[in-house]
Amino acid sequence: MATYVITGAASGIGAASRRTLESGGHTVIGVDLAHTDVTADLSTPGGRTAAADAVSEASGGVVDGLVCCAGLGSLSHVPGGRLVAVNYFGAVELVTALKPALERADGASVVVISSSSTTTQPGIPENLVTACLDGDEAEAVRIGDQVTAIPAYPASKLALAWWIRREAVRPEWIGNGIRLNAIAPGMIDTPMTSGDDLDPELAKALDFYPVPLGRRGRPDEIAALVEFLLGPGSTLFCGSIVFADGGTDAQLRQQDW
Ligand code: NAD
Repeated sequence: MATYVITGAASGIGAASRRTLESGGHTVIGVDLAHTDVTADLSTPGGRTAAADAVSEASGGVVDGLVCCAGLGSLSHVPGGRLVAVNYFGAVELVTALKPALERADGASVVVISSSSTTTQPGIPENLVTACLDGDEAEAVRIGDQVTAIPAYPASKLALAWWIRREAVRPEWIGNGIRLNAIAPGMIDTPMTSGDDLDPELAKALDFYPVPLGRRGRPDEIAALVEFLLGPGSTLFCGSIVFADGGTDAQLRQQDW
């Protein structure tokens, strides 16, 4: 049985992934702001280092898989800079800090949660994506605060997807047997899309979000994909961005062939 680390494990997709993996007999080390094994604030470099140290200790220095679910949504009243710090830097810096523990496993797998907003939301600020991929957190936070959370969200998730594609094929990762992949969910029913702190007008607009399947996704449907991408059935997945959105991306990006 494997040892997996899940950030954002206290809620939504992270909590569902925990349940799925534990029911398969695996050990899960959760990281979140509260209500899980490791308490850490992934919006700061110090919080990320503390999280990596605590995980290394709890895992005995060997991690078979890491799932980065911790994130802030664009519909609550959060500054765009903090959103970028959690969604992008909180993921890539933790993945990087845990690389030694992932290397010690026999074929580790990393899954980050991107978003289908990367292809369906117009007006993504490219300078914010570039600042993230350049590793310039101060500049990314400055731009995030300037543009506000709604455009900062898809920018943070687009940068995360491109980081996965860039890094996955480098010898430092796949050469050490570590597979990096991302899931791009559409609208999933979690506190991020139906919580009390959402802007009521924006929350109402979500009811008009096009989902050909006819309903929002459930967190356990993303957890099933997490389990697959961590497991032995997905060994050819390397740098893949897997959309799981009930058809939203396909509907909104049709071509006239
Ligand atoms: P959620 O709000 O239920 O869970 C997010 C978790 O992240 C919470 O437990 C929260 O405490 C944690 N978190 C937030 N800031 C943190 C910080 N500074 N340090 C540590 N933990 C922190 O949301 P969810 O819907 O389960 O989202 C999980 C991931 O999926 C997020 O990255 C989100 O952007 C992404 N996503 C969600 C949807 C959706 O429709 N729900 C769609 C696409 C992508």
